[in-house]
Amino acid sequence: MTTYDAKLGLYIAGEWLSGGGRDTQGVRDPATGAVQAALPLASAADLDLALEATQRGFVQWRATAPEARASLLVKTAQLLRERADHIARIATLEQGKVLAEAKGELAFAANLLEFHAGEAVRIYGRVLPRAPGSRSLVLHQPVGPVAAFCAWNFPIMNVVRKIAPALAAGCSIIIKPSEETAGSAVEVLRCFQDAGLPGDVAQCVFGEPDMVSRQLLASPITRKLSFTGSVPVGKHLMKLAADTMMATTMELGGHGPVLVFDDCDLDKTLDLLVAHKFRNAGQVCVAPTRFHVQEGVYDRFAAGFAERTKALKVGDGMAPESQMGPMANPRRPEAIGALVDDARAHGARVLAGGDSFARDGGFFFSPTVLADVSLDARAMNEEPFGPIALLRPFTTVEEAIEQANRLPFGLAAYCFTENGRRQNLLGDAIEAGMIGINSVRLSAPDSPFGGVKDSGHGSEDGPEGVAAHLVTKTVHMV
Ligand code: NAD
Repeated sequence: MTTYDAKLGLYIAGEWLSGGGRDTQGVRDPATGAVQAALPLASAADLDLALEATQRGFVQWRATAPEARASLLVKTAQLLRERADHIARIATLEQGKVLAEAKGELAFAANLLEFHAGEAVRIYGRVLPRAPGSRSLVLHQPVGPVAAFCAWNFPIMNVVRKIAPALAAGCSIIIKPSEETAGSAVEVLRCFQDAGLPGDVAQCVFGEPDMVSRQLLASPITRKLSFTGSVPVGKHLMKLAADTMMATTMELGGHGPVLVFDDCDLDKTLDLLVAHKFRNAGQVCVAPTRFHVQEGVYDRFAAGFAERTKALKVGDGMAPESQMGPMANPRRPEAIGALVDDARAHGARVLAGGDSFARDGGFFFSPTVLADVSLDARAMNEEPFGPIALLRPFTTVEEAIEQANRLPFGLAAYCFTENGRRQNLLGDAIEAGMIGINSVRLSAPDSPFGGVKDSGHGSEDGPEGVAAHLVTKTVHMV
């Protein structure tokens, strides 16, 4: 039997803290529901210590040469890779995704660290020549201590995606990862620590989310909020951030439209989409969600999607044969079940799945395909964040674009067509931060990742992710 061997604690001022009468929260295995470890939660006094440390850490790290910041990121990537099996196992045991996905996530996180090492030494300024002997300088400097909050769906990568650009830019950071996937975050922090990151530069805390975010965002020490999570929580945190006018990066939810045209390569499209839809049991912000399929291919698309979906092997993420694991927590199957019931009540046809099922106490939901889903169904309007594919037919390209832009979300969108003119038209017209055309790959270390409209603002990754941690200063010299 594989055991969960994360050593959980708060990481503040270079010390791992636990016990001491702190409240604790159980970390569960989503495949069984069993509590496998107790996570210590930060008190208000712990958060004050973290804020004092991050202030010291910022003074130290902003004065650290970019080359030294870069080597630290490279060394951390190396440690992450060396510990890949151990950390990926912890991620699966606390989040539920299949082990192969956890390993892929870790490899991506290591690549991100190396990319940011390169960016750390490429933070340039500008010289504006004036009259002879005088000039103005445009400088880009670290914004200050960052408070970051991230969700449980990519427990390794989400943490790296917050810390790497902050450190590359010369900022210190306090991160509050999800309590439900604390072990992965703790192991990432150990890699930074063992790579030689000074203790005050990155703090990792867990706690009651509302209490932690209110305290960290009310402090004048914090100069930037970086959040990955749902739209309602994101809007709430931005209101808190407004009081001190801090900078914000908001990576919020989506409702990915997929436009499938009659001329697509149908089998290839279905193979790509079914695998992508059920990755991490659909708990992905860029998941393809509502499939708008042109009339000529709608029936074949629906039949092919259902057939492939029924063939998926669902089970414990640690079992090598599993292709989809449980959902991350008991809230998710309940929420998805309610959305499926509501879609049915609005006339949707269930082509595959449709039910949660208890297996060894785990939080499972069947991979589900619903056809002819009404636009009035809740699932067509709220982010489902689960393993349900929603299918509807359309006729014209104008109608497809109208559907893609119908909701306030604007994170990911996908289009499948072999027509080059149409590809360009769709790329221009769809309101989304990222668009895949005949592709489901939206994330790469050098590519800005982020949304528009209610899905947030400010990119992560790419040079833009580091730029979001910099402020601009102009120095005029006569
Ligand atoms: P939730 O909204 O309760 O929590 C989502 C995340 O936000 C958790 O990590 C939680 O710790 C954090 N959070 C909640 N309240 C907070 C607060 N006041 N201050 C700081 N952090 C806070 O929902 P859930 O049931 O855990 O997840 C389901 C929802 O979360 C979905 O609807 C989905 O939109 C969203 N989600 C989005 C992403 C993403 O990548 N965009 C990832 C995971 C979850």
